[in-house]
Amino acid sequence: MNIILLGYPGSGKGTLAKDLSKSLDMIHVSTGDILRDEMAKKTPLGLEASSYMAGGRLVPDRLVMDMLKVRLGAETRGLLFDGFPRTVAQAEALDAWFGTRGQEIDSVVFLNVAEAVVMARLGSRRTCTGCGKIYNVISNAPAKEGVCDACGKPLMTREDDKTEVIARRIQVYKDQTEPLLAYYRSSGTFVEADGGKTPDAVTKDVLTLLHAKP
Ligand code: AMP
Repeated sequence: MNIILLGYPGSGKGTLAKDLSKSLDMIHVSTGDILRDEMAKKTPLGLEASSYMAGGRLVPDRLVMDMLKVRLGAETRGLLFDGFPRTVAQAEALDAWFGTRGQEIDSVVFLNVAEAVVMARLGSRRTCTGCGKIYNVISNAPAKEGVCDACGKPLMTREDDKTEVIARRIQVYKDQTEPLLAYYRSSGTFVEADGGKTPDAVTKDVLTLLHAKP
């Protein structure tokens, strides 16, 4: 089974993907996490991607596709895409790539959350520097301020979760990623969940939707 998660930055895709990949034994493919890893290792791809990411713009499609093909070429388990595709060109490239592998996308899950809610969530999001667990200082704070409950490492504010970059990311989503809703809506694989609920409730709803699909 291969699944795509769609939704605004801050709609909860990352948190949902962590839960679903455990429940369904799938590979969580976060292109944002992979790119941040490349940046931390200062690889040529990471260095090229860093200026786009810091400014809240999308990394060019070609770089993202090449990176995924290298990372996932030999992978046979189900893929759970979080933050990919982000453009119609990426969706078309994914279809073409899956076509050559005899694979298909089984479900596209759209997490529907109001724009004002994601703006507020992104501003209060903190991410663990160790295990990547995601917190929110207002609605889902760690027991000890600034420290991850799960692994004890410090939490940080992502560079692109800073106020000045958030508005650009929202606009980029509307311009370049939102057209994917129309792309997938007619495909028969599209389901929609209310991403405004608590993380546990969203996971439960999505598992029900996935199991209910023919
Ligand atoms: P995310 O962690 O998914 O919010 O992604 C963080 C940043 O990484 C984005 O704002 C983009 O700059 C870049 N990025 C992640 N995924 C993609 C993608 N599929 N295509 C282009 N850029 C991406």
